Amino acid sequence: MTDDGRAGAKRMFRSLHHRSQTLAPGDALAPPMVTASKFVLGAGPDAGIEYGRFSSPTWEHVEAQLACLEDAPVVAFPSGMAACAAAIYTLLKPGDRVLVPSDGYYTVRMLIDRYLTPLGVEAVQRPTRALGEAPMEGVRLVWIETPSNPGLDVCDIAAVAVRAKAAGAITVADNTTATAFLQRPLDLGVDLAVYSDTKAAAGHSDVLFGHVAGRDAGVIEAVRDWRRINGVIPGAFEAWLVSRGLETLDVRLERMCANAAALAEAVRDHPALESVRYPGLPDDPSHALAAHQMDAFGFLIGMTFRSQRAAEDFVAASEAVSPTTSFGGVQTTADRRARWGDAAPEGYLRLSAGCEPTGPLVADILAALDAIA
Ligand SMILES: *Cc1c(COP(=O)(O)O)cnc(C)c1O
Repeated sequence: MTDDGRAGAKRMFRSLHHRSQTLAPGDALAPPMVTASKFVLGAGPDAGIEYGRFSSPTWEHVEAQLACLEDAPVVAFPSGMAACAAAIYTLLKPGDRVLVPSDGYYTVRMLIDRYLTPLGVEAVQRPTRALGEAPMEGVRLVWIETPSNPGLDVCDIAAVAVRAKAAGAITVADNTTATAFLQRPLDLGVDLAVYSDTKAAAGHSDVLFGHVAGRDAGVIEAVRDWRRINGVIPGAFEAWLVSRGLETLDVRLERMCANAAALAEAVRDHPALESVRYPGLPDDPSHALAAHQMDAFGFLIGMTFRSQRAAEDFVAASEAVSPTTSFGGVQTTADRRARWGDAAPEGYLRLSAGCEPTGPLVADILAALDAIA
C-alpha cells in the first residue's frame, strides 16, 4: 500500500470510530435514526439543532462519517444531482463561463444547458482526456469527472487544478465513480468534491443520496445555505441507510475492485468483444494517470460488443448481470449507455462489478460471452 493508500485507511478507521468515542454506558453503538422536525430551542442562535430543514442528528452522523473520509467538512443532499446542482448554483452567476466534460454524467450538462445558459452562463465542453490542455482563460468554474462516466477516461486532477487556479477558476470534481476512499480530489488541489452516494458509497441499490465536500469554510457555508433556503434536504431514513452502507465501504470496494480486475483480465481478448476499457489494464489509455492518482482502479469496466443485440444477448445469458442503470451495488449490473443518449457505441456496456465471490462471477461472465460469440 502506498503512503496515500494508508491515508485512505486511516480516514476509514476514523469514519468507523468518530461516534464510538462519544458514547456513554447505555448508549446504542449503532446510531439511532431521528425523524423529528422540531427540536427544543436554546437561548442563543447557535444552541444546537433547531429545525429539521436546517439540520438533524441523523444527517450530522452521516456527514461526520463522510467528513472523516474527506478530511473536510461535508454537506449532505438527497441525491447526487442535488449535490451537483448545489455546487453549480452556489458558484456560478450570470456572465460566468464553465468548462464541463463532454463525456461526463449527462444530467450535469443538461442542468447547465437548460437552467443556467438562459440565465447568462456560457458552457464550454471538452472531452475528459483533453481537459489538461483546454483553454481556461475567462473560465470561472472547471468541472471534472474522473474516471468519466460512462467512458472511463481519466484526467490529471492535480494538473487541471493548478491550471484552473492560475486562470482564476474554481475546480469541482465529481468523484462518484472513484469514491472518496479510492481517490482524494481535495488532497490533489480541487476546491470542491461532489458525489452521488447512490452508487458505491451507500452501496446496496436501495437509496439515493449525495454530498458536497470542501475545505473553504465560506464556500461550504454557502452550499449549506443553499440547502437550507431551497429545502433540498435528505430524509432521516435515507441518511441512516447511507451511514450503514458507509461502514463497509472499504470492504466492499476491495472485493469489487478485485472482481473488476479479474473480469477485465479474463474478458479482454474474448472474440465476442470489440474492446475492453478498464483503467487497471496496463495498456488502457487511463492506466498511467489512474495508477498515479487512485488507490485502486475501481469497479467499472467498459465492454464494447459488436451490436446492441449482442450486448443485450450477453446480459440475458448471464446469471450474475442484471440490466440496470446506476452502478456500485453488491450485485454485478450492466447498463447499455447509448440507450440514454450518451455518445457511446450501440454495443457499449458499462459493467459494475459487484461483491460476488470472484471465481463463480468470472465463470458466469465467460460462459455468457461464449454463449453469444
Ligand atoms: C449517478 C451520477 C450522478 C447523479 O446522481 P443521482 O444520485 O442519481 O442524482 C452524478 N454524477 C455521476 C458521475 C453519477 O454517476
